[in-house]
Amino acid sequence: MTDVLILCEHDRGNLEPATLEALTFARSIDGADLSVLVCGELADDAIASLGEYGATTVHVAEHDLLSDFGPETWGQTLVAAIDEIDPDLVLACGTSKGNEVLAQAAARLDLPFVANVTELDDSFDEMTRVQWGGSLLERSGLEADLPIVSLAHHAVEPASVDGGAPSVETFEPDLDDSLARTVVNGRDIAEAGVTLSTAPVVVGGGRAVGNADAFAPLEELAELLGGRVGCSRAVTNNGWRPHSDQVGQTGTRIAPELYIANGISGAIQHWVGAMASKQILAINTDPEANMVTKAGWAVIGDLHEVIPAITEEVKKRRG
Ligand SMILES: Cc1cc2nc3c(=O)[nH]c(=O)nc-3n(C[C@H](O)[C@H](O)[C@H](O)COP(=O)(O)OP(=O)(O)OC[C@H]3O[C@@H](n4cnc5c(N)ncnc54)[C@H](O)[C@@H]3O)c2cc1C
Repeated sequence: MTDVLILCEHDRGNLEPATLEALTFARSIDGADLSVLVCGELADDAIASLGEYGATTVHVAEHDLLSDFGPETWGQTLVAAIDEIDPDLVLACGTSKGNEVLAQAAARLDLPFVANVTELDDSFDEMTRVQWGGSLLERSGLEADLPIVSLAHHAVEPASVDGGAPSVETFEPDLDDSLARTVVNGRDIAEAGVTLSTAPVVVGGGRAVGNADAFAPLEELAELLGGRVGCSRAVTNNGWRPHSDQVGQTGTRIAPELYIANGISGAIQHWVGAMASKQILAINTDPEANMVTKAGWAVIGDLHEVIPAITEEVKKRRG
């Protein structure tokens, strides 16, 4: 049996889907028995979900300093769990939170940490990982008493199994105030409802949109389809949209059911943020544009004509 310890990502008790990606990936490991570490409180239905995705045991760490996220408190808690459980592999999803906590734990244990892996061989001493924002796949060797590895975010689609309720064990890690230098103590949520990274549809606009006001038709289409507007860096550089709307290497990685990319050339730095989209419709005047050649569907034409036409057609069909 291979004991895999998975870090649960949650936000004040709300389970992050990234954890389910890590569980789904871990199930593909031969003979894996999956336990999950939860730092702080997690809702009962979220614990049940961990079982539905294959966790057999959930270790809940209880401590006043775990009432909100702190990379050092979570890192030290992971070290305590590793001491107790003695796993064969430690895994998290490679979100910024997952990578930060694994790096904290690895540094404390003086062990290496491999980030953003997509494939692991059976003995965990060779792996494939993504680099350069996803544009390079790299084969790496690993020599470590305990492999500490993060899974590339969005590399795996979460899939449930018929798992039963996991057993829950609580423990109190030994944490002191010196670890609480960066504990989150407040937050301003900039957006309500569907976010760019979770939107089922993203309507993206590039330089060719032309100006900030010209995004109105994209907003209308996105709203009609229950999605969000995204954009390229050319757009944020021009100050037409906030950076939180930017898709790409230095923006958000998206994975919608449908990405409608309007007047976006598909430069590699944009593509790495968009390539996890299930389907892509490119609207572009250039049939040779990267985004067009990579998309499943394309309309070769002026976005200022094509978007209103799509919007009108959607409205007409919906009556
Ligand atoms: C370190 C680094 C990080 C970067 N990170 C990012 C990132 O995170 N995200 C990102 O997007 N970029 C990023 N970039 C910038 C990236 O290299 C490109 O410059 C940028 O993505 C181009 O934006 P664009 O596609 O909107 O513009 P352009 O490349 O200028 O493309 C405009 C497209 O619109 C088409 N077009 C023109 N008129 C019309 C029309 N009327 N209707 C329809 N189509 C039309 C053109 O054929 C063209 O394909 C980064 C660059 C660097 C160096």
